[in-house]
Amino acid sequence: MNAVTSATAAQEKERSRLLTLKSYDILDTPAEEVFDEFARLAASIVGVPVALVSLVDGNRQWFKAKVGLEATETPRDVAFCAHAIGSVDVFVIPDALKDERFVDNPLVTDGPKIRFYAGAPLIAPDGQALGTLCVIDFVPRELTAEQNEALQILSRHVMAQLELRRRLATFTRGDALRQRELTALRRAISASEFQLYYQPKVDMRSGHIVGLEALIRWNRPGYGLISPIDFIPLLEESGLIVEVGGWVLRQSAADYREWLQKGLSAPRIAVNVSPLQLRRSDFIAVLEHAMASTRAALDIEITEGVLMEKTEEVIETLGAIRQLGVRVAIDDFGTGYSSLRYLARLPIDTLKIDRSFVIAMTDNADDMAIVSSIITLAHGLDLNVVAEGVETEEQRKLLRLLRCDQMQGYLFSKPVAKAEVEKLLRSEVASNAGEAIANATDSEFTERRLAGRKSGEPSGYR
Ligand code: C2E
Ligand code: CA
Ligand code: CA
Repeated sequence: MNAVTSATAAQEKERSRLLTLKSYDILDTPAEEVFDEFARLAASIVGVPVALVSLVDGNRQWFKAKVGLEATETPRDVAFCAHAIGSVDVFVIPDALKDERFVDNPLVTDGPKIRFYAGAPLIAPDGQALGTLCVIDFVPRELTAEQNEALQILSRHVMAQLELRRRLATFTRGDALRQRELTALRRAISASEFQLYYQPKVDMRSGHIVGLEALIRWNRPGYGLISPIDFIPLLEESGLIVEVGGWVLRQSAADYREWLQKGLSAPRIAVNVSPLQLRRSDFIAVLEHAMASTRAALDIEITEGVLMEKTEEVIETLGAIRQLGVRVAIDDFGTGYSSLRYLARLPIDTLKIDRSFVIAMTDNADDMAIVSSIITLAHGLDLNVVAEGVETEEQRKLLRLLRCDQMQGYLFSKPVAKAEVEKLLRSEVASNAGEAIANATDSEFTERRLAGRKSGEPSGYR
């Protein structure tokens, strides 16, 4: 290595050391008892008047703890610790006046007239030396083997403290971010920043829209439309989903009502219901109220996870829900672990095949077998089956061959805003009229599908 490259390598090494040091967020923070205690202990073990917890910054050494010294920092170019951080073991100068590296050092020749120095480097888990735990005397000394070992042990404890703080800080920072997001979500509720998009479910044979799924979006000021995957988990964790989920039910019912009033034949609307909502004793009342006030036809979609615990209660709740004329679909079917016997006992109407199987189905025989089995299973249990996330004509053809009942996916339409739903429903009315003359064929289906897609908004999110 030539001189230039070794200089750059050294700079690079120092840059990364400083990055590590900064990550501890310790420089220029107030003195703290824990670190002072380590310094006092070091001074007393070695029997010297001065001990420091020193951190070597870009051009200074700064003292987190100090015993027997006034200064809070000294320039790096005169610092003994700047040498010590290059050492693996304890760096010992028994008599500075006899060491040519320090004989002219102003800390030796002027104040405070250092003669003895011993510094144990503080080594971070990534191997970088951040500074030292060091002891100083104004007379020459030797460091005994026991004192040397004690200094090393203490320096490791100082480092462990620093590391612990860094880790705790990441937690509290994460917590602060979570708090900010929660505040924003609470504001979103009171400022009505949520919005419903709808994605059609299409009958595989006729190509007609036979249902809509309500999918929430957050129209967050300054951010645009936010996907539910990015905020539903926090709503669930915080329990706010109960309130927001209630709103989704009421809003879907209100939109349904409005479409009827506009003379559109609104299909049933399926609403995603989270486990927390379903487990609440007032859920049925909330659902009933949303529907009764608008006479809307709502269905619900729940994930397999919700079925895993409190089996009997779940069966009872679902039974009561169906008494209201609400159909129940198991969402993302195939990703959970529902037992088949249990499935047979459940008062449900529909299985929705998870998108991941639909994607893989055309290239992978196993996935194809899974899709085919789910369809057979559903029909065997007298359930309706819907394929999620159908994006290609190939997938549609296969699903039709496998006798899947309905499909949902970008091939027919992405989730669209209310106004776009109305357009889709109007074009449905027109095509239904057309069908009185000619029965739907595959090619007609494709044409209408494409027309529907053109009128649909291309993407839900910005
Ligand atoms: P989900 O219930 O499985 O909804 C289907 C998701 O797949 C939707 O994502 C939809 O936009 C997307 N999708 C549909 N067809 C296709 C396709 O062909 N290709 C691709 N790549 N994606 C497709 P979205 O709207 O982002 O919703 C994500 C999840 O958020 C939903 O998954 C649901 O679990 C949850 N969610 C949405 N709205 C609500 C709500 O009101 N309440 C609750 N609890 N959860 C909701
Ligand atoms: Ca769903
Ligand atoms: Ca799904």
